Parts: sequence; C-alpha cells; structure tokens
Amino acid sequence: MDEKNFNTDVAIIGGGACGLMCGVSLIKNGFNGSCVIIESNPRVGKKLLATGNGRCNLSNENLSNKFYYGSGRDSACQLFNKYNSEYIKEYFEKMGLMTVSDHEGRIYPYSNSGSSVLDIMRLHLDHRVTEYCSCSVTKIIPNKNGYKLICNDSITFNAKKIVIACGGKASPKLSGDGMGYQLAKQLGYSLRSLMPSLAPVKVNSHVLRSIKGLRVQGSVALTADGKRVKSEQGEIQFGDGILSGICVFQLSRLVNEFFTSHTINGSKRNRIGITIDLFPAMDYSHVYSMVSARKNALSQHTADKLFTGVLQNRIAMAVLKESGISDLQIPIYSLNDRSIKAIADTLKQWSFTPRCVSDFNTAQVTAGGVDAKDINFNTMEAVNHQGLYFGGEVVDVDGLCGGYNLHWAWISGVTIAKAITNKNKL
Ligand SMILES: Cc1cc2nc3c(=O)[nH]c(=O)nc-3n(C[C@H](O)[C@H](O)[C@H](O)COP(=O)(O)OP(=O)(O)OC[C@H]3O[C@@H](n4cnc5c(N)ncnc54)[C@H](O)[C@@H]3O)c2cc1C
Repeated sequence: MDEKNFNTDVAIIGGGACGLMCGVSLIKNGFNGSCVIIESNPRVGKKLLATGNGRCNLSNENLSNKFYYGSGRDSACQLFNKYNSEYIKEYFEKMGLMTVSDHEGRIYPYSNSGSSVLDIMRLHLDHRVTEYCSCSVTKIIPNKNGYKLICNDSITFNAKKIVIACGGKASPKLSGDGMGYQLAKQLGYSLRSLMPSLAPVKVNSHVLRSIKGLRVQGSVALTADGKRVKSEQGEIQFGDGILSGICVFQLSRLVNEFFTSHTINGSKRNRIGITIDLFPAMDYSHVYSMVSARKNALSQHTADKLFTGVLQNRIAMAVLKESGISDLQIPIYSLNDRSIKAIADTLKQWSFTPRCVSDFNTAQVTAGGVDAKDINFNTMEAVNHQGLYFGGEVVDVDGLCGGYNLHWAWISGVTIAKAITNKNKL
C-alpha cells in the first residue's frame, strides 16, 4: 500500500462537533478497531472555537422539540429523552470538562472558552483516533468491503464503516461549504431544501442606514397576517437594510419558511412583518405618557432633543423620522397629539417588512439536509447503505440559538459510536 492509500475500520468525515464526539465515544465504548477523522481544514474543531462567541454554548437544560425544526426533529428529540442535557453535561464532566449554566439554562465550559471543549475531546482521542487534516473527501464509492473515499491530493481511504459528519453550508470560512450534502446526493440520498438559519434578516427600510452599526436592548416580534407568532428579547443590531442580533436570528428560521413555502409553522400565511419594541418593560400607555411628559418638560427645545438622555441620538432621530417628523428643528411644543401618538407607536411597534434572510456566510446553521426518512435514528445509519452513518448538521435537524445545535451534534455522534461498537461486538 502506498502512503496515500489508507485502510481503516471506521472513517469519520469531518472533525467538527459530531465527528469528534463520535471518535471520543468510540474510544469510551471500548471500540478496538482502527478509526480515522478526515478533516478538510488544517485543524479539527475550527468552528467549535467560534461557537457562542468563543464561549461554546454546548447544550441547554431546557431541551424541547419547540426549539428544533426539520424532518428529523421528532426523532432527534426522542433521542434526547435518553440523551438529555444532564447526560451530555455528565459526559463532558467525566472527561474532565467543568461546566456552568446561566439563568436561561445555557451550558458553557467553566473556563468560558470553546478551546477547553476542543482540548478535552482531543485529549481523549489520545492518538487512538488518527486525524488527517487538510484532506477533503470528494467522492465515496461503496464496494463489497465497505467504502472507498477519494480525497484531494489523490489520497484514498478504504473503510468498513463511514460517518458523514461534514456539517452544513453555514459560515463556510469556519467549516465546509456543504460537501456533505454533495456526498449524500452522490449516494442517492434526497435532501430537504437548504436554507441559511440563525442569520440576520434583510428588511425594507429607509431609516436603517442612518443607524447602521448601533445596538439597542429591546424585543423583536415576527407577525404573520398581522398576528404575533414569535417574539424574543435581547440585543438588536442595526445594519443598512438589515436587522441582526441573537433575538433576530431566532426569528430567521420562520422568515425563511415563509419565503420558501408561504407558511409559518406549516400554516399558510399571506404576509409577514417584524416589529421592534424599544421599551418592552413598559406598556403602551406608559410609553405614551412618557413621551407626553417629555414634551411638556422639554417644550422649548427642538424636536431632535426629545429623547436626549433616553435613546442614543441617531436612534432618536430615526424614531422621529419613522414617526413622520421630517423637520427635527421644530420646537417640541409644536408636536401635536397625533405626532406624540405616532412617536409612541414607533417606540412600541417599529415595523419592518422582511425581504429575505441573509446568506450562508452570515448564518450560524443550515436548515434542511439529508431527509430523516433515509436514516434510522436509533443508530443514525442510512437506510440504503449498511455501515454508512449521518450525524450533526448534515442531517435535516436544526435548532434555535442556545446550545441546541451542538447538543444535536454531540448526541448524533454518541448514537453513531454506540451503534458501531454494538455491531462490532456481534
Ligand atoms: C459562529 C457560530 C457560532 C455558533 N455557536 C453555537 C453555540 O454556541 N451553540 C450551538 O449549539 N451551536 C452553535 N453554532 C452551530 C454549531 O456550531 C453547529 O451546528 C455544529 O458545529 C454542527 O456540528 P457538525 O459536527 O455537524 O458540523 P461542523 O462542526 O461544522 O463540523 C464539520 C466538519 O467537517 C469538515 N468537512 C466538511 N466537508 C468535509 C469533507 N468533504 N472532507 C473532510 N472534512 C470535511 C469541516 O471542515 C468541519 O470541520 C454556531 C455556529 C456558528 C457558525
């Protein structure tokens, strides 16, 4: 055998969250065959280091199917009945990772650094799983002994079992560009349409350019045919024609659903909107009274000073413009009751019309992927190919922000490792 042709019992394609967890679990389960991880980046776990703003939100204490989407949602959540957040926390803690949870149940490494998660996993891989980095699998050929993997630079692997854990198309600079989907397609598997999710939303607005780069605390809601369908609170970031921030990301999955199928949560809808509430802790009448009181207190000043001390200047200007006050140099006393009401309306319900979700470059996760009907979720084995497993983001399961996507990546990796070890024992 020349040095570019390798034989192995198990080849894991993708050294991300799912692939690494699968390798670690194989070792923990006492698997005594050979195993390689093939990774297209120069190092494994590049994306892991960027998760949770570098802190790696690795799971969530409040797992529930309401935080997941995709054809595999229910089957994945059934796995979570057994493999819940407590399981994964203990799994990592037994490896030596100390974890902490925040008030919303999000679980992080105690060090607040994703590198601790990656380091502890690589410590446990312990040279028993060989990493082949800067190596991209471009073709899979099934044969009577298993699978032949063709990689760049004429490298090939012959493996009895293979795991496709190539991730998705989101944030291609951190991981792959969706090669896992191509590999699945080559093998005859159908894909549910791929969409960027957990991403900024592009909206129609003539005032956003003036507040580009600013951030506010508030709540953001998605409406469909005038009714609120989902709302989230947190930091909202303004861009030129773009709304961003985790709370906007949480709405993006539904925005995408609307633009691809004109449905929201499966129900037909005609139009959607996004509204921002800049004062979620106050009801409308309080906000209206606050604006009226400021009018009285600051009556001799010009309109551009109405929110001095309350809102960032540029945001205040944008709110006034959005409320129809085009001349910001008029004296505040000249604002009539209709204007005060319009301003209170904007503060409580600043409305935007979504155009689309931003692209894969800015998305955290891919919605869609290998159809759940083609996978046995008890093992994650493909229904038409023995010894071929799919795990992580390449499968049509995606979650909201909060540790849900990594939880799925870990658990699918654990499930595959268990299936491989059990088969090996027979
Ligand atoms: C900026 C950012 C922050 C995030 N933060 C969080 C968070 O805090 N919590 C959370 O739960 N989720 C988070 N996510 C989502 C989460 O990171 C992913 O859902 C998860 O990493 C998916 O795991 P995976 O193993 O399926 O894929 P990945 O982690 O993407 O790993 C796939 C690996 O396969 C490699 N690969 C691809 N194609 C090939 C090929 N043909 N040959 C060889 N190797 C290949 C890639 O280089 C990559 O290393 C975040 C995502 C992003 C982009």
